[in-house]
Amino acid sequence: MLRIYICTQCGSTRIVSNNHDSSCLVCNKPMSRAPITYEKYIGFDRTQREEFIKNWLNKLEGE
Ligand SMILES: [Zn+2]
Repeated sequence: MLRIYICTQCGSTRIVSNNHDSSCLVCNKPMSRAPITYEKYIGFDRTQREEFIKNWLNKLEGE
């Protein structure tokens, strides 16, 4: 199963399979698992992805 991870530092994303390392390739920080399925994420266009990432990071900051 593939999952979407988002870096809370720089906002970059990775598609990660089960039990795979999920550190950010840019800043080497642990990434946060995004609450979205791989299938749904790849169905997004560029703008929708950017919007989704922005909203998710805002939500994490608010907690
Ligand atoms: Zn990063």
